[in-house]
Amino acid sequence: MELKANIPSGPIERKWEKHRFEMKLVNPANKRKYDVIVVGTGLAGASASATMAELGYNVKAFCYQDSPRRAHSIAAQGGINAAKNYQNDGDSVFRLFYDTVKGGDFRAREANVHRLAEVSVNIIDQCVAQGVPFAREYGGTLANRSFGGALVSRTFYARGQTGQQLLLGAYQALERQIGLGKVAMFPRHEMLELIVVDGRARGIVTRDMVSGRIESHLGDAVVLASGGYGNVFFLATYAKGCNTTAIWRAYKGGAAFANPCYTQIHPTCIPVTGEHQSKLTLMSESLRNDGRIWVPKRPGDRRPPGEIPEAERDYYLERKYPTYGNLAPRDISSRAAMQACDEGRGVGATGLGVYLDFSDAIRRFGEAVIREKYGNLFEMYERITDENPYKVPMRIYPATHYTMGGLWVDYNLMSTIPGLHVIGEANFSDHGANRLGASALMQGLADGYFVLPYTIGNYLASTKQEKVDARHPEVQAAEKAVGERTARLLSIRGKRTVTSFHRELGRIMWEHCGMARNKKGLEAALQKIPALREEFWRNVTVPGEGQELNQSLEGAGRVADFLELGELMCLDALEREESCGGHFREEYQTPDGEAVRDDERFCHVAAWEYAGEGRKPGRRVEPLMFEYVPLQQRSYK
Ligand SMILES: Cc1cc2nc3c(=O)[nH]c(=O)nc-3n(C[C@H](O)[C@H](O)[C@H](O)COP(=O)(O)OP(=O)(O)OC[C@H]3O[C@@H](n4cnc5c(N)ncnc54)[C@H](O)[C@@H]3O)c2cc1C
Repeated sequence: MELKANIPSGPIERKWEKHRFEMKLVNPANKRKYDVIVVGTGLAGASASATMAELGYNVKAFCYQDSPRRAHSIAAQGGINAAKNYQNDGDSVFRLFYDTVKGGDFRAREANVHRLAEVSVNIIDQCVAQGVPFAREYGGTLANRSFGGALVSRTFYARGQTGQQLLLGAYQALERQIGLGKVAMFPRHEMLELIVVDGRARGIVTRDMVSGRIESHLGDAVVLASGGYGNVFFLATYAKGCNTTAIWRAYKGGAAFANPCYTQIHPTCIPVTGEHQSKLTLMSESLRNDGRIWVPKRPGDRRPPGEIPEAERDYYLERKYPTYGNLAPRDISSRAAMQACDEGRGVGATGLGVYLDFSDAIRRFGEAVIREKYGNLFEMYERITDENPYKVPMRIYPATHYTMGGLWVDYNLMSTIPGLHVIGEANFSDHGANRLGASALMQGLADGYFVLPYTIGNYLASTKQEKVDARHPEVQAAEKAVGERTARLLSIRGKRTVTSFHRELGRIMWEHCGMARNKKGLEAALQKIPALREEFWRNVTVPGEGQELNQSLEGAGRVADFLELGELMCLDALEREESCGGHFREEYQTPDGEAVRDDERFCHVAAWEYAGEGRKPGRRVEPLMFEYVPLQQRSYK
């Protein structure tokens, strides 16, 4: 397998412009002759589908929810970055590029990141034109706030519901094309297999989640916009339905999987309260603009927060990282919280929590101002914890939130399978080993509105391929594989529920491949996961039938894939003998607990190639070059 990044030549600020000129175009009158399949209608997939249909391509779009409006993107709270420099505080395309490369701990591809920063400004214009109600200043100009890892305010937001408002914009654009007949929308359809013909992606096999019907859909190119895989940890801030199946099927069909071990653990989530929980809730990073994070200085101090005097509090982020303070990046803030709790200074009943305190901000600005900025987040917190965060500090703890790993793509967002494009959180993306806050929405919409619609045209214009129909042996084989797998899951009729397997996998992953990892733990996980997988295929119980709505069956298919992916994540984490961003190997740290990279041996993307059942996958590398942001020890002090 060759990892050809296809980065255009020339100075970084000219690459995308030059590439756009050099790429082949499809004659506008010919676009209607091409069918493009898009799996996923979150921000990435909805924006891509609407834009490609607007250009004239025929799009078939799929999602497993009952409406594109319910994609996980809707959960995004805090905001979306763009280098508009509306605040006149020193921002620029280059600064956003620089912050993102540094924030990702020098494990992203410079050319892609620069393009992302360039098109970020177009995204805001596009969304405003669609009517997205971004927050505004008194005079009517768009407002900004700060997010982690940046010293400028470049985050555009719509209260604490930015994802929802952006998705409404993309959804309207998508609906317009559905109405015009250019997008055929297939809700409640789950992709369960990729169809590859003559080495090219030509279609997918889906299961109609209501009737159980298995069918294939064929086209000239396939786009996966299926989101992230953080639910491998069971407890995460993701919507419960998020899964890895689409990209895992593609991986098994020949697409390289890049950096699977890069997971983002977000520092500000509501702490776990007990065994009964099935998901975790994020408190947006935007809260760190005004909230101050602290723990008691003395281990074991169980006094209520109001009784702990100022002098006995440790505002540990402000102390350790005076330049960035409470806006230190997520990986660093999460580890600092974990360290404070490991020292016995955690708060709350479990001791796994730190305070996020707004009392200073409320004193300074008044409650009304804080309510205006974060009202819905405060309300959500109160509903879940029954504590009033205007009166007592919030308690927060890190939780799984985002996956920087995903299918490997070249500069054109094409995977190692020609014709298979991957966008949004599903690809290994532009965030390296750690994503900065408010950059996922930016990347998903950059890919969908402004990058893929160009690059897919180049692919279609330069590729000659025959029409494929449902009788083709590859199509038949893919359909048969889905049918057999479904039947096998239904036939086991064992004793353990799908959820109990998922929960156990999540525990293994959190313990050994979570916020901190080490060789011994990863080796243990690599023993435990195959054993759990073996038990799953022997002892899982999936009630009901295939020809009906069957959520246990859906869950079983997804957990079966997580049980394979988890192993690859641990393998990747084991072989990357360095610490970088969200991948913190305990063996590689400075005396004060900062990550130590090994640029000599690991300044590369690791992309895994499936080698068949029971065989160790191949580890391929794409070397990374840093010409514009020289490699340096990342510091936020
Ligand atoms: C609580 C929370 C808050 C966040 N806040 C922010 C924020 O403020 N700013 C920011 O930048 N980022 C934020 N993020 C991250 C960001 O929301 C996501 O990374 C982003 O929305 C992912 O978009 P996507 O389009 O790639 O995928 P998703 O929105 O996850 O969409 C995936 C789509 O794929 C479909 N799909 C998946 N598998 C299949 C299949 N097998 N068959 C058919 N369809 C399938 C789904 O139905 C869905 O339509 C937040 C994340 C969380 C969890």
